Amino acid sequence: MGKELKLVSEATLRSHIQARIRELGEMGLFISGSFVHTERKCGSKTCACASGGPKHPCCLLTSKVAGKTKSVYVPVDMAEEVEAWVAEHKRLKRLLKDIDELGERLIRIHVAARERRKTNQARVKQVKDHLDS
Ligand SMILES: [Zn+2]
Repeated sequence: MGKELKLVSEATLRSHIQARIRELGEMGLFISGSFVHTERKCGSKTCACASGGPKHPCCLLTSKVAGKTKSVYVPVDMAEEVEAWVAEHKRLKRLLKDIDELGERLIRIHVAARERRKTNQARVKQVKDHLDS
């Protein structure tokens, strides 16, 4: 966390969070996992791929479920779309992380501002006491 970030006001942080929440509302379809370009045999015994020829390019969506890698073949005509879903999910995670960090800064800044107010009040009281004596 940089020093310059501490100078941001609570109101600014709140508006940054609101902006990200609005962005969440405008998200397209998303899906978790990694999009992988790979190749496979098609399963036909007469195809060149069955006898050591070139395999067929294909796409996989892989994800970890309870520590195990799960993968699903993505049909070619869906590949571009699913790749976009994966990118959108990354954006979603980034937004959630940003919101967390901004919220944390908001909490910290609030405490710091309260401490400053206390210190100022104490100074004002000191001056008053001084003037009264
Ligand atoms: Zn084949």
